[in-house]
Amino acid sequence: MASQVPFVRLAAGREPAVRLAVTRVLDSGRFVLGPEVEAFEASFAVAAGVRHVVGVASGTDAITLSLAAVGVGPGDRVLTTALSAGYTAVGIRRAGATPVFCDVDRPALGISPAGAAAKIAAGGIRAVVPVHLYGAAPAGFAELLRVAADHGVPVVEDACQAHGGRFGGKPLGSFGAAAAFSFYPTKNLGAVGDGGAVATDDADLAARVRRLRLGGQVRRHLHAGRGWNSRLDEIQAAALSARLPRLDDENRTRRQLARRMRERLAGLPLEVVAPPPGRTGESACHVFVVSTPRRDALRESLALAGVETLIHYPVPLPLQPAFRTPGAGPESFPEAVRASARILSLPLHPGLEEAEMDRIVGATRAFFRDGRVAE
Ligand SMILES: *Cc1c(COP(=O)(O)O)cnc(C)c1O
Repeated sequence: MASQVPFVRLAAGREPAVRLAVTRVLDSGRFVLGPEVEAFEASFAVAAGVRHVVGVASGTDAITLSLAAVGVGPGDRVLTTALSAGYTAVGIRRAGATPVFCDVDRPALGISPAGAAAKIAAGGIRAVVPVHLYGAAPAGFAELLRVAADHGVPVVEDACQAHGGRFGGKPLGSFGAAAAFSFYPTKNLGAVGDGGAVATDDADLAARVRRLRLGGQVRRHLHAGRGWNSRLDEIQAAALSARLPRLDDENRTRRQLARRMRERLAGLPLEVVAPPPGRTGESACHVFVVSTPRRDALRESLALAGVETLIHYPVPLPLQPAFRTPGAGPESFPEAVRASARILSLPLHPGLEEAEMDRIVGATRAFFRDGRVAE
């Protein structure tokens, strides 16, 4: 059997600067919320185009604490997209709020700007969490920001897939009242464990997040309000500082690979969903996503050729047992339902080798060629 094409290769990119950084922390004896976290917060703020970054324990926590910091609490309704990582909705739930879902639109499968505008205008929405799905802002993002501002609804960007991505030349994560980043190892900026951050221009909001991550303490042993325990540790911060200088280069490589992959798949009965055609230059190209009604057969065929693929995401959020609400079945989210049955994420990461792309493209072409002969 020939070698495998893994979806990502995480041990690559962790050497040797990361090893040095981790050793530095082990020698320091300081392990949680210390100088490494402070240094990373400062340098990531520059990269994300914001004044303040607060390190937390995960991207999910970053969503929860951002929402709590803009005043979201129990009983509130928070609007988000029907197609995202489950943790987008988990983060909303943990702030005490109920996620309200909006369908997506084609071709890029971001939250529908018209649908979101209608739901915001109808009232009762306390905050909105747009997701920069697959590394790019949703189409119509400017319109969504304007409608939210017009109605006084704060925006918390879920930028967990979008480190280094841009919109109109400005970094993703610098548009809302706050933005949530994840440093889960598979993300464009990945740690060697869990981590996350809240990014904001608002000094008061940043101060509230700093209290929220420490159990609501305003000073040691004085818990003044609600809070969580959500701290970034020194090893993760040091590893992230070691990797951050490479982020832009790695994203450039992702974009180049994505452009070539799209060219090489041209002519097949297959749509490229991400990165969005024409907007590749601003996408963080977190994953390369294609769409075909023959998704499951293609996936099986690629697996037989040794190509590992994933589905982001097979079940729309409003259809997850945890987030179902009466009167909001599949018929309310036709585009998310349609997409979830068709999308497939192919391997695309900065370490993808020429021979690996050959294999992915060759196996995909063979699938459609043989399929046509058989039909
Ligand atoms: C990864 C991810 C999250 C959750 O981040 P964690 O660090 O795993 O908690 C939330 N939203 C999106 C869109 C993600 O991709």
